[in-house]
Amino acid sequence: METLEFQSEARQLLRLMIHSIYSNKDTFLRELVSNASDALDKLRLETFRDKDLVADTSDLHVAIEVDPAQRTLTVRDNGIGMTREDVVGLIGTIAKSGTAEFLQKLKESQDAAASQDLIGQFGIGFYSTFMVADKVTLVTKHPRSVEGVRWESTGEGTYTIEDVPDVPQGTSVTLHLKPADAEDQLADYTSTAKITEVVKRYADFITWPIRLAAAEEGGEPTTVNSRKALWARPASEVTEEEYAEFYRHVSHDWNAPLETIRMQAEGTFEYQALLFLPSQAPFDLFMRERKRGVQLYVKRVFIMEDCEELMPEYLRFVKGVVDAQDLSLNVSREILQQDRQIQLMRRRLVKKVLSTVKTMMADKAESYRTFWKEFGAVVKEGLVADTENRDAILAVSSFASTHDDEEPTTLAAYVERMKEDQRHIYYMTGDSRTAIEQSPHLEALRAKGFEVLILTDPIDEMWVGSVPAFDGREFQSVAKGQVDLETEEEKEQAKQREQDFAGLLEWLTTTLAEQVKQVRLSSRLTTSPACVVGDTHDLTPQLEKMYRAMGQ
Ligand code: ADP
Ligand code: MG
Repeated sequence: METLEFQSEARQLLRLMIHSIYSNKDTFLRELVSNASDALDKLRLETFRDKDLVADTSDLHVAIEVDPAQRTLTVRDNGIGMTREDVVGLIGTIAKSGTAEFLQKLKESQDAAASQDLIGQFGIGFYSTFMVADKVTLVTKHPRSVEGVRWESTGEGTYTIEDVPDVPQGTSVTLHLKPADAEDQLADYTSTAKITEVVKRYADFITWPIRLAAAEEGGEPTTVNSRKALWARPASEVTEEEYAEFYRHVSHDWNAPLETIRMQAEGTFEYQALLFLPSQAPFDLFMRERKRGVQLYVKRVFIMEDCEELMPEYLRFVKGVVDAQDLSLNVSREILQQDRQIQLMRRRLVKKVLSTVKTMMADKAESYRTFWKEFGAVVKEGLVADTENRDAILAVSSFASTHDDEEPTTLAAYVERMKEDQRHIYYMTGDSRTAIEQSPHLEALRAKGFEVLILTDPIDEMWVGSVPAFDGREFQSVAKGQVDLETEEEKEQAKQREQDFAGLLEWLTTTLAEQVKQVRLSSRLTTSPACVVGDTHDLTPQLEKMYRAMGQ
């Protein structure tokens, strides 16, 4: 038997669990059942892929056993199991990207509700068992290992691990429950009524049978979940709570979803989709390794996680399930990439997501506002990446503007407010609203009463360069080149002035040759005497900074 130390991040997370910050301890059972269900999915997939794998798939299920006398609760599955390396790697360490940042944020957050939110986004997993148990024993066997593995820990810094013979296929996790105490409701976790209630609440849609038995009763275990795939049930029969619970299962997000999207396609290529827009951006939304959120099923059988063939990167926050009826269970990423039906399906899914946001905009202004605040910066990546849907994306976008200090505006509303002599949609990019508002570039437009979009997201630099127009109106940077603001009469006057000042301008241009390309009269300024502008084809200072940061 070996005693090993938890990796330091794992230790920190465990400490959080032991001194539990959750009000709702029931969730540990959701995590265990969810892991068991994943393990059954994986075993079924493995046996499809590898015909030589020796495993029994005739009765895949989850079994929960409670023993009030011993104060134990065991969750068992006959799924894929883990090798010794798996156990050390998966249970002893936290491989999830962004864990360090997550823990740092958690440390900084003083407020309990905010911490709950953060944890919800992270997903607590196996370690949540230490909220209710003072010792956890895990016994597991992978079909490719000869012997099984026994892992045990009190969650305080170390765990033991040893090889054991004669372990059945799959994994069992036994919780030695903490002593019951009056304030905590720990007493109930050995009662079949309580466990039934929790499983129904959290895991009813799991398609594998979840069987429950009490040690002393000895009778036949009963299946407690109804096992109906939510997306296959008529929409009218599914409650908000059921959707919310399913969302938690697929997203590992504690919060309720902002919007639920259902799709049904019949005909030659049949599929069902159940998608969700989260109400909060995950902390790793902008990390490079960030996965996409849509799972692929084929005829109710789980096939793969984060199926990127189904959702473009700019919609990577969309969570849910797509169940296709006419694909092979053996389908691989390579096949998916080439499959025309999959490409068609993806196009329809994207359009459906965008049209849902559009509807939200019209019917649920508050939800839309939340959505855009959380995900707008990501959706705008689509303006560059997805030219086919560019107009649809522009239609659901909103931007800060000089029209209103608080409320962002849609482009349609901007166009509505355009002055009679205004031809362009004006914008200015920069690091912050304050910096942009103080810029002398805005003066002439202010004087004319022209509205200017205030673009402060890094992606704004990219899309304004590649999107030519909205509704026939070109986008025009106020910081670049000649902003064409004059009427005919003003142009005449300007020409005259140009002649009057020709000598001075020439002298200034020569004198400042090192610093600037050209000195010219401007109609943009009203109160500032002079300002430096970029050439029409120059990079903006922000873009220049960005490229430099990228090492180019
Ligand atoms: P997550 O499920 O989000 O990956 P968990 O902490 O719940 O995080 O589990 C960590 C990993 O341990 C899982 O990804 C899985 O590989 C492995 N694991 C946990 N429970 C089981 C189980 N019952 N059978 C097989 N593997 C498991
Ligand atoms: Mg898990």
